[in-house]
Amino acid sequence: MKPGFQVKRRDLLKGAMAGAFAACAPRVLMAQQPVTKLTGAISVIDGGGANVTAFSSPDGLVVVDSGAQGSFDAVMAALKGLSPNGKIQTLFNTHYHLDQTANNEQFAAQGAKIVSQMRTREWMRVDYWVPDEQRYMKARPKAALPTETFRDQGSMKAGNEEIAYGYLLMAHTSGDLYVHFKGANVIAVGDVASPVRDPELDWFAGGWVGGRVDSMDLLLSISNDQTRFVPAYGPVMTKAEFKAERDMMEEVRQRIFDHVRAGEGPEDMLQGKVLDGLPRKWKDPMKFLYAAAKGAWGFYDKLGENVV
Ligand SMILES: [Zn+2]
Repeated sequence: MKPGFQVKRRDLLKGAMAGAFAACAPRVLMAQQPVTKLTGAISVIDGGGANVTAFSSPDGLVVVDSGAQGSFDAVMAALKGLSPNGKIQTLFNTHYHLDQTANNEQFAAQGAKIVSQMRTREWMRVDYWVPDEQRYMKARPKAALPTETFRDQGSMKAGNEEIAYGYLLMAHTSGDLYVHFKGANVIAVGDVASPVRDPELDWFAGGWVGGRVDSMDLLLSISNDQTRFVPAYGPVMTKAEFKAERDMMEEVRQRIFDHVRAGEGPEDMLQGKVLDGLPRKWKDPMKFLYAAAKGAWGFYDKLGENVV
């Protein structure tokens, strides 16, 4: 790997979306609707391209992710359509990325409690280095920060709905969470599943391919055959679709480990066609393999039983 290798994340995301549209056209059309109703109480809102999950109850709305920059008016209009008084009880942040947290300030101004895993708050609280772009991202203003954090898991009630939430260890960043609406049988999983875009591993924040597989296994263990999974982008997934992505990621993990054991880097992996023959075509395989290889550096003890 050339030490100067850099990726312009914005360009990559644009390219990734274009490629995915071609592969999954009918399902993406569904996601482009401003509101997709999953049950009487739970809907997925288009938050500027990113999914916002909203559960309405007599106690107010429980929302997962606040939407991308510039989407607040559209998100708020959709929320008012779901709950006339529009009272937002709780906002969860699945992780710190701006597409999931850009409207936090406005939600806080509406009186929402903001809940995240503790590491997500830490990423938002201080300036941090963005290696792909060779620059610092400024800390978020205090009003945008989560007001309540947890380490492993927690639960709450909204109306009669039991809502459980928990930590997904190093699956995409270092602070991913899921939110399980148990009665509705819906789990919002943030960027831990990626049915449309290339799976993204924020290696600098601690995301890595093994953490992703382990987290998908955890999510499968709390689901049943009727559970629906809401990813950060793209259409809602059935359990079978979610399981298929998990199995593909496990295959990717094994192949990447084989290359890492042989002392190879992402360019070798690309030349070794490590992503060929999978049920997914990567839009930018080099970006993914670079992040996967970087992420694996911290986990050499997982490469084999004789590796310490
Ligand atoms: Zn993300």
